[in-house]
Amino acid sequence: MSSRRSLRLLVKQLGPFMVHCFAVSLLFHPADACAAAAEEAGGSSTDTMILCRACGHEVAVGTDIHFVPSRLALSSRNDTLVGGRRVNVQLFENPHGHRFEVITFRKADVSQHWPADKHFSWFPGFSWTVATCPRCKTHLGWAFQPSEWPDTITKTKFEESAHTFLALITHRLLREDFASSLLMTPQSFRS
Ligand SMILES: [Zn+2]
Repeated sequence: MSSRRSLRLLVKQLGPFMVHCFAVSLLFHPADACAAAAEEAGGSSTDTMILCRACGHEVAVGTDIHFVPSRLALSSRNDTLVGGRRVNVQLFENPHGHRFEVITFRKADVSQHWPADKHFSWFPGFSWTVATCPRCKTHLGWAFQPSEWPDTITKTKFEESAHTFLALITHRLLREDFASSLLMTPQSFRS
């Protein structure tokens, strides 16, 4: 069994356990806490894989992270490390009062659900669609496109544009290197 496959298995098995036991700060380590770990890993792993926490699907890599600041964010911090580099995490609140901490990405492997909505956008000038995991359908966040665009566009147009981005919920994601650190391969899986 490949380590990738056993990692997915682990994520699947530990899913509900991890939901309750690990805070966001552990999944996306505060800078100080994981600086040593990043150094140990060589410090150049900017291609750190970002996984769906529910099923282990590979959603993006660290280099896809791209900070899009919003004046509507309740707060913004950059004490989180991915692949040895600080990334910005913004806190938003939806009209129902639910708060979400998100990281913005240039691109990600998600399913989008058009038509896009111009209302209540956290990024003025952009309309949004819900973004879900293509494998397990978990709601991972939102995708943003210029609001002057048609409400429904093709996935190709979204992916090819430099004006589109995604905001994914930090606690629904998992860094692969963090997941790997939890992995103890059972004897029977070893070759
Ligand atoms: Zn998933």
